[in-house]
Amino acid sequence: MGKPQLPNAYVQYMRQMLGKEADAFINSYQQPRTHGLRFNSLKATPERLQQVTELFSLTPVPWCESGYYYDENQRPGKHAYHAAGLYYIQEPSAMSAVEMLNPQSGETILDLAAAPGGKTTHIASLIQDRGLLISNEIHPARAKILAENVERMGLASVVVTCAAPGELAARFPATFDRIMLDAPCSGEGMFRKDADAVTDWTEDLVTLCVNRQWDILQDAYTMLKPGGTMAYSTCTFNREENEGMMERLVAAYPDLTLVRTERIWPHLNRGEGHFVAILTKAEARHANIGESEESMSTAKRHGKKGKAGRQNNPGKETQSAWDAFIAWSDEHMPDHVVRTGRPLLFGEALYALPDSGAALLSDERLSGLKLPRAGLHVGDWKKGRFEPAHALALSIAPDAAARMQHVTLEADSDLTAAYLRGESLPADAALKGWTLVTVDGLPLGWGKASGGQLKNRLPKGLRRMQ
Ligand code: SAM
Repeated sequence: MGKPQLPNAYVQYMRQMLGKEADAFINSYQQPRTHGLRFNSLKATPERLQQVTELFSLTPVPWCESGYYYDENQRPGKHAYHAAGLYYIQEPSAMSAVEMLNPQSGETILDLAAAPGGKTTHIASLIQDRGLLISNEIHPARAKILAENVERMGLASVVVTCAAPGELAARFPATFDRIMLDAPCSGEGMFRKDADAVTDWTEDLVTLCVNRQWDILQDAYTMLKPGGTMAYSTCTFNREENEGMMERLVAAYPDLTLVRTERIWPHLNRGEGHFVAILTKAEARHANIGESEESMSTAKRHGKKGKAGRQNNPGKETQSAWDAFIAWSDEHMPDHVVRTGRPLLFGEALYALPDSGAALLSDERLSGLKLPRAGLHVGDWKKGRFEPAHALALSIAPDAAARMQHVTLEADSDLTAAYLRGESLPADAALKGWTLVTVDGLPLGWGKASGGQLKNRLPKGLRRMQ
C-alpha cells in the first residue's frame, strides 16, 4: 500500500507558515523516516557502548549525548540487549526535550503525559535514578506499557501513576522542581512513520488538541514549584499547538517566563520533528503565597474527591513482607542495595517507594490514586514466602550481578532465544535455587535451578512467541 496523501488543508497551512522553505519541508515526506535508540546510563559502560555502536553501526544524534541513529534494516528492538534494558528505542528528535529540561539528581520531577516512556526513561537516565520521578499516564492500557518500560530499564526512582492531570494537580500543588509535559497533539511529525496519523488529521483535530493542551498546561502550572522549570513539547508543526500555546500561557500566568523554544524540522535536521519550550516559574515573593493558597484553589477547581482504590495493607503484614525481602536479599544479593524510603504492599506485590518520595507520597496523598507501579516492585509475598520480582532482577547493576549466583548467556546464542521464549534451560547439577540469568553480564530475569535444570521465571507477558 502506498503512503496516504497529505491533507490539502495541512499542506496549504504549512506553505503559508514556511513560505520559501515550504517545498523542502513538503518534499521531506518523500524521504525515509529516521530511527534512533538512547542508551540507559545505569547499564551502559563505555566498553558496552563501543561494542553496541559497532554491532548496529550507530551514529550520534547531535542534540543528545546518549542518543544514536540506526539503519532501518538493523533491528535493535529485537535484540536481547533491548530486553535487558540497555537502550530505549526512541525517535531521534524526541530526545531533544529532556536534554533541554536538564533534570538533576535528587530533584522531585513529574512527567505528566508519559506513556510509552521515552521521556521518563530519559529523565531517569540523566538523574542516574536518584530523586523522585512521578511518571503519569491517563490511559490505563498505556500506563501498563509505561510501567513495563520503566521496569525493563531497571529504575527504582520512578512511581507510575494513572490519573487525569487535574486529579494529580489537586494532590500535588507547587510540588515539582521540574515538569515534563509532552502533550497529546495532532501528530504532524508522525506522518512519515504512521499512516494513521495522516488520515486522522483534520483542522478540527488541531482545535481539539489546542483545547486539551490548554487544560493540561494549567494543571502543570499548578504543580510546578515556584523557582521550578517546565518543558512543554509536541511532535506537531502548527503554531497554534506550539508557540501560540506558549504565548497564551505566559499571558495568563505572569510569573512564568518563556526561556527558550526550539524546533527540529525534518527538512533541516535528521529527525521526524519536534517542538520544545522551556518555561520557569518565578520564586514566590511572599512567604504566605504558594503552597497553601495554591493548594486550596486547585482543590476547588477540581473538587478533590476520594475514590476507592487499592490501599496498602496493614503495617504488620507489610513489615513481615519487607523483613522477608531483606532476609532474601541478604542471602541472594548481598551487594545490591535497594534505595528505599517506604515499603508498600498491594495484595501480594511488595514495592519499595523511592527514598525521596517517602515524605511526599504519604498514605493520604496516595489514597484513591491508581498506582500501576509504586516504585520498584521488589517481589511478591505469597502466604509467608517471598519471591523476587522480574523488576528487581532488571534493577541489578551488571557489576553486582557478577557477584551473585548467576548464569551468563551469550547474546546470539540459542539459549538466550530459548530463555526469552520462556523455556527451561539445562543447568549445572550443583546449581540450586534463585539464579540471575544474564546476557553478556546484563540481567535478563530470574531462573530457579534444581536437578540440572533452570526453570524459567520470565513473566508470561514478556515471553517472545516467535
Ligand atoms: N512522553 C511520551 C514518550 O516520550 O514516550 C509520549 C507521550 S504522547 C505524546 C502523549 C500522551 O498523552 C499519550 O500517552 C496520551 O495517552 C496522553 N493523553 C491523552 N489525553 C490526555 C489528557 N487529557 N491528559 C493527559 N494526558 C493525555
